[in-house]
Amino acid sequence: MAKSALITGITGQDGPYLAEFLLSKGYKVFGLVRRLSTPNFENIKEISDKITLLSGDLLDQGSLADAIYKSEPQEIYNLAAQSFVRASWDQPVLTGEFTALGVTRMLEAIRNIDKKIKFYQASSSEMFGKVTETPQKETTRFYPRSPYGVAKVYGHYITVNYRESYEMFACSGILFNHESPRRGIEFVTRKITHAVARIKLGKQKKLELGDLSPKRDWGFSGDYVEAMWLMLQQEKPDDFVIATGENHSVEEFVKIAFETVGISDWEQYIQSNVSEHMRPAEVDYLIGDASKAKKILGWTPKTSFKELVEMMVNSDLEKEKK
Ligand code: NDP
Ligand code: GDP
Repeated sequence: MAKSALITGITGQDGPYLAEFLLSKGYKVFGLVRRLSTPNFENIKEISDKITLLSGDLLDQGSLADAIYKSEPQEIYNLAAQSFVRASWDQPVLTGEFTALGVTRMLEAIRNIDKKIKFYQASSSEMFGKVTETPQKETTRFYPRSPYGVAKVYGHYITVNYRESYEMFACSGILFNHESPRRGIEFVTRKITHAVARIKLGKQKKLELGDLSPKRDWGFSGDYVEAMWLMLQQEKPDDFVIATGENHSVEEFVKIAFETVGISDWEQYIQSNVSEHMRPAEVDYLIGDASKAKKILGWTPKTSFKELVEMMVNSDLEKEKK
């Protein structure tokens, strides 16, 4: 019989890539969606007839239990979160409710209904924050620098704790930044590729950005969802860093994005507004060591940094032409 999987955060960036991946493996896929006055199903429009949506919210314990009863999943992927670091200073309590306590609510629902359900938690390189070791790996000390990072540390450890307390198959994937044409527009990569496409087409004059010096280990979301699945196919649950092992500055991202549309004098289009985009605490430098994932899961990234930037710019060009 086909396996069932329940994905929270199905309408975000990673959810649709994971759903497509699981559908290709023959899974029956269920996605949890919260009620919004105007639903945004843009990212799942291509797969809407292949998946089943269930109503629920990470704030509402009963709705999580209902979703589990209805989907009878063998695997649950908890991707839902308030995921934008900048917004976590504006809404620190809400971020904690979604991104930290939401994980416990889901784990409790699993524990009460069926402890055999395998659980994946979307942990983040933001937990390393002000890094204490380079590159960062599973054993690197956490030093989060935002309410988001702090909430993710809670989510990580409660996952480890339920694994150790109740012998649940609960895994935490510590994923470094990953992007795609489905990335939310407020994140710097998509903000850049969207603006570059519009500038190329004469629809926009300037791209306003903050600090161009922070470095991130940027990979492709479509590659990273395979690692989530692989973690749940192992004999024993564990935690894994997923990264490319390469990092680039925001400036390098901007330069390649403009070069993709044939603009070399990119500096003239940048409007610097560092104070507006300044965060109360910044994460300057992230680079991951995914050698454990390579050894145990057999996972390696497939998409290069340049391919990722080009994919995002070309997708935004197509969208803006329509
Ligand atoms: P997105 O921000 O694109 O998606 C977040 C999803 O969570 C959306 O579907 C959103 O639904 C849903 N959601 C938010 N709040 C709730 C709630 N209270 N109840 C139910 N659903 C909710 O994130 P990504 O796809 O980029 O990331 C997936 C996960 O991986 C997140 O947990 C993120 O923090 C984590 N992560 C991401 C990284 C990255 O670089 N992308 C790196 C490391 C970790 P709605 O459409 O209604 O807003
Ligand atoms: P994060 O790594 O999860 O915080 O992802 P973001 O894409 O939001 O930010 C990546 C880096 O880009 C951070 O160091 C930001 O400070 C920096 N940055 C510079 N300008 C901007 C901007 O205009 N928007 C965003 N979102 N980030 C910016």
